[in-house]
Amino acid sequence: ATPTAVLVATGAASRRGILFRGGDVLEATGRLTLAAFDKTGTLTLGAPRVTAVLPDLGSEKELLALAVRAEAGAAHPIARGIVAEARRRGIATPGADGVKTLPGRGVELALVEGVLRVGSRAFLEGAGVAIAAAPGGHALTEVHVALGESYRGAIHLEDQLRSDAGEALERIRNLGLRSALLTGDTPAAGRRLAASLPLEEVHGGMSPQDKAAWIDAARGRGERVVMVGDGINDAPALSAAEVGCAMAGGTDIALENSDLVLTRPELGRLVEALAIGRRTLWVIR
Ligand code: ADP
Ligand code: MG
Repeated sequence: ATPTAVLVATGAASRRGILFRGGDVLEATGRLTLAAFDKTGTLTLGAPRVTAVLPDLGSEKELLALAVRAEAGAAHPIARGIVAEARRRGIATPGADGVKTLPGRGVELALVEGVLRVGSRAFLEGAGVAIAAAPGGHALTEVHVALGESYRGAIHLEDQLRSDAGEALERIRNLGLRSALLTGDTPAAGRRLAASLPLEEVHGGMSPQDKAAWIDAARGRGERVVMVGDGINDAPALSAAEVGCAMAGGTDIALENSDLVLTRPELGRLVEALAIGRRTLWVIR
């Protein structure tokens, strides 16, 4: 039978927007040793804005217009940022049928002129596109655009750190957990974001499967891991963790794969959840 202390704590937590999906989750949360975080939408606001449009061929408008043909229907925050910039510049953004999403890589759309790809450098290079040395800074989120094997240029974006991220991570450290950032963005973008944060580890260029494998390896060493994420790309990692924690505003697939749901996108709620788990363990032991 579920101890009364667990029922009471679960009820109190839910009124604070912290949903433990089962009494065993509450206990598992009390025993965690390592917190792994997604970047976009988790440590950041998840609303990246375009900071530069860098065509390799044609004009800035042409590059944006091409990119939105594949991004218009995509759910990723990067896609929304690119579409918003196109609208701002008066570019039409009709959605296209047949866009394929490659989680952690980008989007592609077959056009008569060739396959349009918008995504990470690794994604395009894997498709045989030669990318000229990156123009501008390396430490920004950069997305590349190609039509067939013809490289068309880069779009730079910048997302904002959540204002409560530093404090929440500090409190998590004070609770004795180690924290890691796992991002599909470049290692440079990961390091840049992490520079001001109390994180023990930062890993970039990770596919959704890499994130899940990293968590499996940590668990193999005896770590008890919570993965905090929001996006569709985080589903494998959320499932791999002992406690998968989804933040509000994320995708349904992230919610389905999670054990702990924060109904408000506040990292402070995660700290509360950890503290509630600890207290409950104390009581029932
Ligand atoms: P994060 O780990 O920061 O949440 P993701 O795993 O969602 O990042 O994405 C990793 C990388 O894949 C992005 O930095 C970007 O380069 C590329 N990418 C993913 N989705 C898209 C998209 N819709 N358009 C362009 N690039 C994308
Ligand atoms: Mg993500």
